[in-house]
Amino acid sequence: EAKRQGRGCVRVFDESMDESIRFRRQIETGLSEAIAKGELKLVFQPIVGRDLDITGFEALIRWCSPEYGMVPPAMFIPIAEESQLIHELGDWVIDEAIVALKTWPGQYVSVNFSPRQFRRQNFVAHVVERVTSAGVDPGRFQIEITETAIFDNVERAAEILFKLRQMGFRIALDDFGTGYSSLYNIRRFALDCLKIDRSFVDGMGRERESAAIVHSVIHLGRALGMEVVAEGVETDTQLQALRLAGCSHMQGYFLSRPIDAEDAQMLAERGTLLGRSEAETQLEAA
Ligand code: C2E
Ligand code: MG
Ligand code: MG
Ligand code: MG
Repeated sequence: EAKRQGRGCVRVFDESMDESIRFRRQIETGLSEAIAKGELKLVFQPIVGRDLDITGFEALIRWCSPEYGMVPPAMFIPIAEESQLIHELGDWVIDEAIVALKTWPGQYVSVNFSPRQFRRQNFVAHVVERVTSAGVDPGRFQIEITETAIFDNVERAAEILFKLRQMGFRIALDDFGTGYSSLYNIRRFALDCLKIDRSFVDGMGRERESAAIVHSVIHLGRALGMEVVAEGVETDTQLQALRLAGCSHMQGYFLSRPIDAEDAQMLAERGTLLGRSEAETQLEAA
């Protein structure tokens, strides 16, 4: 009986494996046609200073598939990342981000790069060529990478980041605190910005540990002359706590959801979330 059950389980397991492989293939095929079919778009989430002035926007990819509906990047980026597709996708993102950036008066665009993109041969030359040939100041182009991207080859990463920074690019370490950064490497790397992962911001009000980590990162960033962006600010309480802790920059649904390019342009021209977001009333009430 147990044996039969065991076999049954194996069979079910195999089927679900088949299923998931088929699903991945479908996503891969759909995705490889998505660019040409115009199914991809970028949305932009404001990054604000303490007074709600808009200093930049993070570019976030969206895939609106007629077949699957809105596919979240967390689902398709890892699949693209397993093939060359990530490069095609990544280049599309760079170009679109630049188009949007050109409509803003001075803010930067922050673009996510996956580990595989970062490891690409001639990564520096590739990005430099794309950004500068578009006539964009690299100082308004922020490259967001995660700890995973740099810590499998620290020497090479340090060299790449140094070169990029020399060319004037901004570099941000995304989801900071979730990976394997050592403080030694943080100091060694040429970084402009630390983005505190939203799990810590989320835990701030509940757990002493999260609050302590948020405070430490803010101080570390400050001491090393880096900008610190708190990600995933969802409530007024978090916003106030972060301001009190001396956090210089914030991003999250409470301030603004990611918005489309036209809305981002209007906001950029306005320069501030004051008078627009829910946060303002809260800020003034506080
Ligand atoms: P990420 O780079 O850490 O981006 C932040 C994610 O948090 C975004 O999810 C954003 O919509 C979401 N977010 C912003 N504020 C809040 C908040 O207050 N609460 C909550 N719960 N979430 C918030 P999204 O757009 O689904 O992207 C997920 C991840 O997919 C990104 O995480 C990034 O790793 C990746 N990704 C997105 N766009 C690109 C891209 O163009 N290229 C690459 N390589 N990866 C991308
Ligand atoms: Mg990011
Ligand atoms: Mg992040
Ligand atoms: Mg994240």
